[in-house]
Amino acid sequence: AKALGRNTYSFFTPQMNVVIQRRLAIEEQMHGALQRNEFELHYQPQLDVKNKHVTGAEALLRWYNPVLGNIPPDEFIPIAEHNGLIISIGKFVIKQALQLLKKWQNQCLNKGQHHKYTMAVNLSPSQFRDTALLSFIKDTLSELDVKAKYLELEITEGVLMNAKLNINDTLQEITKLGIKLSMDDFGTGYSSLSYLRQYPFNVLKIDRMFINGITSKKEDCNLVKATIAMSHSLGLTVVAEGVETKEQLVLLGELNCDFVQGYYFSKPLPEELLLDFSPRFL
Ligand code: C2E
Ligand code: CA
Ligand code: CA
Ligand code: CA
Repeated sequence: AKALGRNTYSFFTPQMNVVIQRRLAIEEQMHGALQRNEFELHYQPQLDVKNKHVTGAEALLRWYNPVLGNIPPDEFIPIAEHNGLIISIGKFVIKQALQLLKKWQNQCLNKGQHHKYTMAVNLSPSQFRDTALLSFIKDTLSELDVKAKYLELEITEGVLMNAKLNINDTLQEITKLGIKLSMDDFGTGYSSLSYLRQYPFNVLKIDRMFINGITSKKEDCNLVKATIAMSHSLGLTVVAEGVETKEQLVLLGELNCDFVQGYYFSKPLPEELLLDFSPRFL
C-alpha cells in the first residue's frame, strides 16, 4: 500500500508485510522442528562470586532450521507460546537439561568431587497452564534419578501477571517438591516487589540491564546494592545476569552478590563444552 498522506492509516505497509511473512515462515517451520531434531540446548555456567567455583548452569534453547537459519529464542518463544507448541518444546527442554545435569553430576562424582551442580530451566506462562507440567517434571526427575533440589525453575513476571487463582498452588507445590523457584529478569517489570511477598521464591536474578550500568552509573549501583540487601533479608540468594567485565564482577563481590553468570566467564555453551568448562581468571 502507498502512503496516502500524513494522517491516513494504511494497514499493510511493506515493512509489516515482511514482519508477517517472517512470522508465518517461523510458524510453518516450527511444526515438526522437534521431530527433525532442530532444537538444542546451550548451557551458561553460573559461578559463586566469592570462590569462583562453578555452581550450576542455565539451559538456553537454540533453534537451527535449514530454511531460516538460526532463530533466536526471543523471536520464536513468543510464537511457540502463541501456537501452543511451547508445551512440547518445553518438555524437551526439561528432559534434555536434566539428562545433562545427571551426566555433569556423575562426571563430578567420578572425579571424586562432592559438589553437586544445579540446573536452571526457563518456563513460560503457558507452560503453567498445562496441568500435566508438574507430574512431567516429577516423573523426569525420578526417571533420571536427579534430586529435586538441583532443579531451578526460572519464571518471569509474565507468569504471575496473568495468573489465575491456582498459580500460587502450583508454585507452592513446586517448592514442596524441593524444586527451587527463581524470579528472572528482576526489575524489568511492574510489580516485582509484591510478587516476592506473595510467592515462594528462592532465587532472584537481577536483569542484565542493571548490571550493565553498575560500574558507570551511581543509580544502577545503588539499585543493585539495595536489591541484594533486600533479597538477603527475605532469605533469597541473588544471581547477577550479564556480567561482562572484571570491574562488574569485583563490584558485585563488594555488594555481596552470591552468584554471577555472563560473558565475562562464558557464553552459553554446547553440552560437550559445558562438561569441559573451567573458569579462567583474568
Ligand atoms: P533470559 O532467561 O533472561 O536469558 C539470558 C539471556 O542473556 C540469554 O539470551 C543469554 O545468552 C544472554 N546473556 C547471558 N550472558 C550475557 C552477557 O554477559 N551479555 C549479554 N549481552 N547477554 C548475555 P538467549 O539465550 O538469546 O535467550 C533469550 C531469552 O529467551 C531468555 O532470556 C529467555 O527469556 C528465553 N529463553 C531461552 N531459552 C528458553 C527456554 O528453554 N524456555 C523458555 N521459556 N524461554 C527461553
Ligand atoms: Ca532465564
Ligand atoms: Ca534473565
Ligand atoms: Ca530476558
